[in-house]
Amino acid sequence: MRNSKGLLVVLSGPSGSGKGTVLKELLARNDNLFLSVSATTRSPREGEVNGKHYYFLSKDEFEDKIRNDGMLEYASYCGNYYGTPKETVAEMMNAGKDVILEIEVQGAMQIKEKCPDAVFIFIMPPSMNELKHRLSDRRTEDAETIAKRMKAAVDEIRMSYRYDYIVINDVVSKAADTLDEIIRVQKSSTLHMKEFIDEVLEDE
Ligand code: 5GP
Repeated sequence: MRNSKGLLVVLSGPSGSGKGTVLKELLARNDNLFLSVSATTRSPREGEVNGKHYYFLSKDEFEDKIRNDGMLEYASYCGNYYGTPKETVAEMMNAGKDVILEIEVQGAMQIKEKCPDAVFIFIMPPSMNELKHRLSDRRTEDAETIAKRMKAAVDEIRMSYRYDYIVINDVVSKAADTLDEIIRVQKSSTLHMKEFIDEVLEDE
């Protein structure tokens, strides 16, 4: 007997913190980890595939999904909607998979209300200067978008106090090691094991 339900992992960090790269490395190492595919109204970047990187929806489609209670959480970020479609998350967790939501802070706080046994991890850039360099080097956003994202980064970092863990992404493989460790340890937390404790006691 053990808690057969997967762990919900909420991962945030400013755009340019490199959380996507760390996540990729983590997913390559951990077979039991499933990344939830979000929906967004922003346009696809070059190379992004519908259904793999995001579900790209129109504003009307997204708002329909909100009305039909199809989103576990959603937020407006830099002028676009982003949200986590409900069904797959529950399905995967019930199948014992640990599910990662890579989402911004407003959405993370909604999950905190709904799923208090989730673990909340914030990926931090080594410095603001480094963040600015990473955003400019990416060359996928124009100057105005970069400025918007730098401002959003400050607001997001202010919210990082509300997370359970802070992981500094200086060296990607080390950040992935730390994330892996946190997930492993969190699976033994009392919060996650509550159902198991109840089951043991029921059998007594
Ligand atoms: P990007 O446009 O760079 O792909 O994502 C912008 C921000 O939206 C990132 O901080 C990313 O974590 C966040 N994001 C992606 N998917 C979701 C989601 O489903 N819900 C919320 N609340 N934020 C998301």
